[in-house]
Amino acid sequence: MSTERVGGYPEVELPDDFSDATSWQRARDEETRVEPLTRAEWMVRVGDGDRHRVVFGTRSGQPVGECDCKGYAHHEWCAHLATVFLAYCRQEIVVADLEADPDEELAMLWRQYRQEGEA
Ligand SMILES: [Zn+2]
Repeated sequence: MSTERVGGYPEVELPDDFSDATSWQRARDEETRVEPLTRAEWMVRVGDGDRHRVVFGTRSGQPVGECDCKGYAHHEWCAHLATVFLAYCRQEIVVADLEADPDEELAMLWRQYRQEGEA
């Protein structure tokens, strides 16, 4: 596993045993809250735990991200990141392409918004 931070954030790599991992089970089974802070930051709460700030987005279509909790610092994986990843897989959240020009992206989101408004 590379710890090199090309372009800022590490790629999200699922642990080999991720389906058995506690963090994954917690993300799936416990009540979770994912609130957007900025285009690439999310405030995440799992069960009755503390809220943590998760950076999550994509780079060239690859999910990238990190969390500020201790679990992530030790394992590069945690229930918070798993929660955002799960929401991303279920298309419950729209994540930003961290390589995209923010102005360009804003224009795209605006067009999306306008289209949805007219539908
Ligand atoms: Zn975390």
